[in-house]
Amino acid sequence: MGENSENRYIDTRGAVENPVSFTEAVVSGLAPGGGLFVPQRIPALELDEICKLADLPYAQQAAWIYNAFEGDLPAEQIQRIAEEAYGANFDTPEICPIEELPGDMYMLELWHGPTSAFKDMALQCLPRFFSASAAQLRQSGKLEDTHMILVATSGDTGKAALEGFCDVDGVTIGVMYPDGGVSDIQFKQMATQRGGNVTVWGVRGNFDDCQTGAKKVFGDPAFAQQLHDDYRVALSSANSINWGRLLPQIVYYVSAYGRMVTSGAIEAGDPIDVCVPTGNFGNILAAYYAKRMGTPIRRLLCASNENRVLTDFINTGTYDIAHRDFVKTPSPSMDILVSSNLERQLFELTGRDGDAIKGWMADLNASGCFQVDRETFGKMRELYLADSVDNETCLATIREVYEDTGYLMDPHTAVAYQVASNLREDGVPVLIASTAHWAKFGNNVYRALHGIALDEELPADVAALSGCELNRLVAEEAGGKPIPRGLAELDDLPLRFTEVIDGTPDAIQAAVRSFLGKQGH
Ligand SMILES: *Cc1c(COP(=O)(O)O)cnc(C)c1O
Repeated sequence: MGENSENRYIDTRGAVENPVSFTEAVVSGLAPGGGLFVPQRIPALELDEICKLADLPYAQQAAWIYNAFEGDLPAEQIQRIAEEAYGANFDTPEICPIEELPGDMYMLELWHGPTSAFKDMALQCLPRFFSASAAQLRQSGKLEDTHMILVATSGDTGKAALEGFCDVDGVTIGVMYPDGGVSDIQFKQMATQRGGNVTVWGVRGNFDDCQTGAKKVFGDPAFAQQLHDDYRVALSSANSINWGRLLPQIVYYVSAYGRMVTSGAIEAGDPIDVCVPTGNFGNILAAYYAKRMGTPIRRLLCASNENRVLTDFINTGTYDIAHRDFVKTPSPSMDILVSSNLERQLFELTGRDGDAIKGWMADLNASGCFQVDRETFGKMRELYLADSVDNETCLATIREVYEDTGYLMDPHTAVAYQVASNLREDGVPVLIASTAHWAKFGNNVYRALHGIALDEELPADVAALSGCELNRLVAEEAGGKPIPRGLAELDDLPLRFTEVIDGTPDAIQAAVRSFLGKQGH
């Protein structure tokens, strides 16, 4: 790959004057000025390339697509990263198999990785991009310190980040979750985490307290200086705005289309629709980029739960968080009001108009609301359809699909399934992103199968079960398919991390220092 062909990264608010390399974009995460990095060039794939790619092992497909973006990591290194990211750490060699359901519905199962949620598809790869990028920048003198990743999580992301960064060179990771605010399964997934470079803290307070605490720590220049002076460490985050998290997600949409052709589900060139249960807009945006690259995707179906800010936006052109409350739902990973990756989509729809984006984001900041212009709205309506599903309908969908087909879905996937059923047109197959194994949310799946509403008490004997025991009960009742090992074994693993700290910046900073001290920095 010649110097001249290197693809570089600009930002969505027009702040970056000299476009940066892939490695710089990955290590920085967020662009200066608060915008998000996007590649200057989106590569184009031929239809027969897409179809041929599907015959390769998944890791090779991923490496091929990463290399099509022409970054500054050497191709052999990309190859190694992809092989490590998508290997025996997944419970099937297909990595993300497709399950066909009646009525031309195709479930793209993105949860066969180590933590049983779709976050693994990106977070098995990003840490390796990060470590390789940081090493390359250090070698060329552009970076001095090693990194500590600090993550505030409401559940899924924390575990996937821990598992992804576990024992990766030159990086340590600390995860904060709200003490008492995550499920038994989620707590045990994090508290039993293996690896020498990881730590986990419960925080007294709710998720907002965790996130606010983390933001204050990130925004404290004096603390950053101390970490540099004392430990030669810089803080970084692993959130879903990092381009290195988005890129791996493009792969499975390209791959899924090719595999649908190979399996005879469709003919090469036939359009499909893609339906995604959406929170931060990362997953559905990856489907958009797959379409841009030439995958014959017709429409993107955006599925929301009761936090329907995106559905309303796609249907009206106005994004409004000022006039709505945050609702708790059985699909907590989509309980989001500010959907950060939408910014990249708007950047693309406006023909990469950084000034327009800057204005809308300023409106959102000032008044909790922005409205896109008519042309942008029109373009969005050509691409997207959107609908939302209320909490009880979500549980009813899990039950109906199970009773009709024997297929058990988690609540996030059920939201997408229901929206796909509402919005689909006959004759066009729908690929549905299935984003979590049901056993991550076994409690609500039990409710769904037994017709117990969310505000009703569970029977006392069921409420007394641990998350693992309840999952075993559901699995037995629902035909005995095994639960993924990482979830099934949780009750048997030692609890390594049970420390609970205050959510104040002082307490978090003290915990970070204590951890780095023990790491022998
Ligand atoms: C994170 C997550 C989502 C939402 O994905 P976005 O990329 O944030 O839109 C949906 N389902 C599950 C299970 C998740 O963990």
